[in-house]
Amino acid sequence: MRADQDRQAAHRWNVLNEIRKKRGSVTDKLLEYFRKNVGQEISGEELKYLAKDKKEWARRVRELRTEQGWPIVTKNSGRDDLAVGVYVLEEDRQAFEHDRSIPDSIRVAVLQRDSFKCVEPNCGWHRAMLSPDDPRKMLELHHIQHHRHRGENAIDNLVTLCNVHHDERHRNTRRAL
Ligand SMILES: [Zn+2]
Ligand SMILES: [Zn+2]
Repeated sequence: MRADQDRQAAHRWNVLNEIRKKRGSVTDKLLEYFRKNVGQEISGEELKYLAKDKKEWARRVRELRTEQGWPIVTKNSGRDDLAVGVYVLEEDRQAFEHDRSIPDSIRVAVLQRDSFKCVEPNCGWHRAMLSPDDPRKMLELHHIQHHRHRGENAIDNLVTLCNVHHDERHRNTRRAL
């Protein structure tokens, strides 16, 4: 077990250094490193090292989350179980375009209102139910009134859904249009 962990840590360190050496923007490097460590806890120190200490790294991580919709969670964005300064890319997928650009304060307020559970009747998925053979992996926020139809980032216009029911809502919406 211990040897396994050492091998994994060594591998991760190699990956970090390989990406660090590449040309390209800080954003590209951060995203590549996150996508090679889906579901793993990554420290701010690693990200700072990856960005060669450029101070912009924290802002770039925030942009990946809020503008590009990568589900990078932190303690301040609704994953209370994480330590301060830890980042996790929950799944290798981007949020639907209209569900991006939700400020963290609104995100947290919606999650709290919904008790960190999928609001779909008969679902109620929450993180403690995470299991390898269940396709439900994460909670996402969905605009009831779609952004492109002028739906707003108001708490009343947002609901918490697991990834499975979120996909389902979008399929149904497309059919209805
Ligand atoms: Zn949505
Ligand atoms: Zn659900």
